[in-house]
Amino acid sequence: MPRAEDKNNCLKAYRLLVRGTVQGVGFRPFIYRLATRLELKGYVKNVGQGVEIYLEGGSKCLQRFLQALKDDLPPLARMESLDWQEAEPEGRDKFIIDRTTSGKSFVFISPDIATCPECLKEIETPGERRYRYPFTNCTNCGPRYTIVSKLPYDRKSTTMAHFKMCPDCRHEYENPLDRRYHAQPVACPQCGPQLILLEARSRKPENKPLDSAIKLVKEGKILAVKGLGGFHLICDPFNLQAVQRLRKIKQRKVKPLALMARDIKAVSEHGFLRQAERNWLTSTRRPIVLLKKKKDIPGIAPEADTLGFMLPYTPLHHLLLKELRLIVATSSNRKDAPIIKDEAEIGSDLCDFILTHNREIAMRADDSVMSIVRSKPLFSRRARGFVPFPQKVPDSLKSKARILAVGGELKNTISIYKDGYVITSQFLGDLDDYENFGYFLETIRHFKSLFDFKPDLVISDLHPDFRSSSYARSLGLPHYLLQHHFAHVLAPMIEHQIPGGDRVLGISFDGYGYGDDGQAWGGEFLLSDYTGYKRYAHLDYLPLPGGDAAVREPWRMALSFLFKAFGRKYPRLKSLQLIPAGKQEAVIELIEKRMNTSLTSSAGRLFDAVSFLAGLAPEKIEFEAQAPARLEAAASFAAPTARTYSYLFLTDKLPYRLDFSPAIREITEELARGQAPGLIAIKFHNTLARAIVEVSLLARQEAGIDKIILAGGVFLNRILLEKAEYLLNKNGFKVWRPIYYSPGDESLSLGQIAYGLSLTAK
Ligand code: ZN
Ligand code: ZN
Ligand code: FE
Repeated sequence: MPRAEDKNNCLKAYRLLVRGTVQGVGFRPFIYRLATRLELKGYVKNVGQGVEIYLEGGSKCLQRFLQALKDDLPPLARMESLDWQEAEPEGRDKFIIDRTTSGKSFVFISPDIATCPECLKEIETPGERRYRYPFTNCTNCGPRYTIVSKLPYDRKSTTMAHFKMCPDCRHEYENPLDRRYHAQPVACPQCGPQLILLEARSRKPENKPLDSAIKLVKEGKILAVKGLGGFHLICDPFNLQAVQRLRKIKQRKVKPLALMARDIKAVSEHGFLRQAERNWLTSTRRPIVLLKKKKDIPGIAPEADTLGFMLPYTPLHHLLLKELRLIVATSSNRKDAPIIKDEAEIGSDLCDFILTHNREIAMRADDSVMSIVRSKPLFSRRARGFVPFPQKVPDSLKSKARILAVGGELKNTISIYKDGYVITSQFLGDLDDYENFGYFLETIRHFKSLFDFKPDLVISDLHPDFRSSSYARSLGLPHYLLQHHFAHVLAPMIEHQIPGGDRVLGISFDGYGYGDDGQAWGGEFLLSDYTGYKRYAHLDYLPLPGGDAAVREPWRMALSFLFKAFGRKYPRLKSLQLIPAGKQEAVIELIEKRMNTSLTSSAGRLFDAVSFLAGLAPEKIEFEAQAPARLEAAASFAAPTARTYSYLFLTDKLPYRLDFSPAIREITEELARGQAPGLIAIKFHNTLARAIVEVSLLARQEAGIDKIILAGGVFLNRILLEKAEYLLNKNGFKVWRPIYYSPGDESLSLGQIAYGLSLTAK
């Protein structure tokens, strides 16, 4: 009971409801310790909407409790809201953790979290009972999202369910003062998962899995290693033969491979590190961070100006890296298929050995990939460590409806909305692949069970043939279709809590999205609010000769631009000499006769064309955006300049158009004079940034717009993003771009939710 009975510390009682990421993150023991320390009585328990706390005691202690609740949260807990009301004191004699739960849930589950310093110390200390134990974890670290299959979050709902705790682990699990109190994946060598090393072909187990695995990597072997969200393929990055063999297995000739380094020191030998990059690399989320190359490693990322690094995030990785220092760690899927989660999915042709264990993965998740632009993350893939994240929506958009958004087709994600929050899934890959479509369905099922979710309506892309759109149609629910580039614009509007009613100029640059006129859009300036858009300007239309073939073969777009600028007498540039005259003629005919050829305003295709003309793009690409990536890399190595090319801004009628034919003519002249591709690349980036500013200035003059959104996959180009953002800021615009979501098609489902909200908000 409170000691002081005076007016300033009289007996009071409160009932609190905390919402946010409060389960599986040590929240209840934190409350228990805090309340006990302040001599408060009552209970804490999980309820449908979060955590309920009942407290009674001196009013001063209660105030101190509320303050500490805000200031000293456990590292993984996130408080979204705190509601409290005064209650009648019940005269309780102690504080307890009430194990019962009640109510239907929308409780946020934590993402997977990298091994914490305390656990790391245990596995490194001889004599500790978890010395060198690869599955050590606690309330502050370890697997979460990838091992849970339903809520409430307790051991029964995870893939740890069939491991029976030993008395030592149980003691830790049940002691509110222990770091492992109610850590659901708690385990030790006596009772927890075990490491297994298998020869890939015979599946024969090997002795001493950890030591043998380390030895095998040193010998140049390729191993599949089970991590949190799936298997990596790992090998020695300095063994060129092993790296080439890995590339052959993955059918990746040049696409960059990710590296895992023992520590930041090992990273800094090969990549330039600034503070923000260091912070993200060492964060508990452990993404792959792309760093500008300092000392290259042959064969790892031959075409890129960056290397992708991550630090170990499970005890198993730490134990391997202690001996290996640096490894290639690329996701184990075959080309275009989802990341592998069970060893049964691993073909014997995929690796030499399999380092696995008997804790199942409930949900796949790839590693997240980001670079840092102007000190902020720029995600090229958002998955492990960042999913699931409860994204609050602006108050004016809150709706009673439950909305499912199924995204687009390439680099897909799904999103769900209920009770004021959106949850976007991890990167799911391209749905035109049959197995990835299975992953898409698997994820929707998982979300329904994990978040107790049943949709009232569904939103899909406008494209009639996307698999996600047909799936949405098949649900028999009210179904709305949303234009691709408008969805791109809406996603960062939600992320940055732009209020309903505000109008922005959404600059949406990407490879391809189905336009509302049936053409292939991709360089769009959309005057937008949550309810709709007006197409204010776009890159001028131009034939896309051969449809999809023009996406795979950048020279086709190069010809299209040349034909527009010069007609049939286009200059036979050096880069075109690789393409036989007959093939060129066939494409020119497609363009002239408009056969199998839609019109496109795609910024991605403009990059393709310029990259090819400058002699940088391959005849046929290996992966999406390869040609633009080479142009960006060339620009990043070139000496800085502010010079630009000419272009036409056609404002005779709406929508206005940007015609880059003059730029194409200037580029061909420079190439004929033997100009270096790097300078052409940088001048081209400058030109596009200047065009963006020119359109924005006119939108301000004509429509009073001063807010700009930059979105779409083209803004993964760091140079363009940086220049455009800088110039727009300089001209007095407020600029937003996706920070915690990718600007690419991964964010379409979030944008689709925004539209669903605008339809149903009260
Ligand atoms: Zn820990
Ligand atoms: Zn144990
Ligand atoms: Fe897109």
